[in-house]
Amino acid sequence: MRWGLVGASTIASEWLIDAIRANEGEIVGVQSSDSKHGASYAEKHQIPFSTTNLNELLDLKPDAIYISSVNDKHRAQLEAAAIRGIHVLCEKPLATSLEDAKAMIQICAENNVQFATNHHLRWAATHQAIRGVLDRGEIGTLRSARVFHAKFLPEHLQGWRINNPAAGGGVVLDITVHNCDILAYLLGEYPEEVVSMTDHKLFGDLVEDEAMSVWRYPSGLLAYTHESFATPHAGDGLEIHGSEGSIIAESVMTQQPVGRVYIQRDGEREELATEPHNLYQAGVADFVSAVKEGRSPACDGVAGTRSLAVALAVLESASSGRKVKVDYAGV
Ligand code: NDP
Repeated sequence: MRWGLVGASTIASEWLIDAIRANEGEIVGVQSSDSKHGASYAEKHQIPFSTTNLNELLDLKPDAIYISSVNDKHRAQLEAAAIRGIHVLCEKPLATSLEDAKAMIQICAENNVQFATNHHLRWAATHQAIRGVLDRGEIGTLRSARVFHAKFLPEHLQGWRINNPAAGGGVVLDITVHNCDILAYLLGEYPEEVVSMTDHKLFGDLVEDEAMSVWRYPSGLLAYTHESFATPHAGDGLEIHGSEGSIIAESVMTQQPVGRVYIQRDGEREELATEPHNLYQAGVADFVSAVKEGRSPACDGVAGTRSLAVALAVLESASSGRKVKVDYAGV
């Protein structure tokens, strides 16, 4: 498949360029708003073409684009590709408003192009092993879950995430969306209401860098989540508690193919066997086969819009001080 990169970003540099090439993808060009940055990025990654003009990239007729620009640019970039029949793998959060995300779903449907959201965690061997345990009913009736995804934002990422609210900065749009998606993948449901608090611990007052929230699911399960840019030493993990056992997963909220998963009963732990693989390569592989087979990707635009809806509800709850129903209207 021939790909165009929209956004000369860190995530593409660190993970997606390799993931695309590992899936026999050819990267034909990159678009960046900064011509110098785009040119040096192209040279560094052996990409034959760079431009500041998205239409020039699309004129190369790639089969797909990967959008990893800042979040408020995603909609217009996706629309430009979709109307030319070009498939789209888009970074999370899909957009900064539900209106934009829903319009993105619609234009892809109208133009018969596949639209995937890059929620990478569901491609981890650890989470896939947890899903197997849950699908087999091995821990009984599910009652509660806990996600602790509190990290320190590395210096090279301390740009728009902390100083640009309009670009979708803040820890909730950055990380809460991932927590929502991984719980949806594991539990098979989305929360119907949330209550939350956010704070500014380290990175100024423009956006929140700390969030905690409680989510109620249609089955009655309660989950609580902790996201942070300001927690250097915590480690990360996920737990799901059922009537017949608990799943304890350590170091699984990460980009790396690492982490350990246990089933715990009566204080005894049994470790699940997992075969680690590159999360981003697996996500791209699904997108490529979805395009070839003419089916929806496993993590499609609807999934990305639903995770955005939960993150926006978390922000609304924090600012209003009230419990908020998640708005899934139209998705
Ligand atoms: P970056 O800040 O690295 O890149 C975002 C944009 O910033 C780039 O597209 C580029 O703009 C501009 N930029 C970056 N570096 C430079 C530079 N040296 N000079 C000039 N401009 C520069 O962001 P991330 O890669 O961290 O995030 C990009 C997207 O990917 C976001 O939507 C984010 O939420 C998502 N993401 C997803 C992850 C996942 O695991 N699924 C992990 C990390 C991020 P231009 O578009 O003009 O080239």
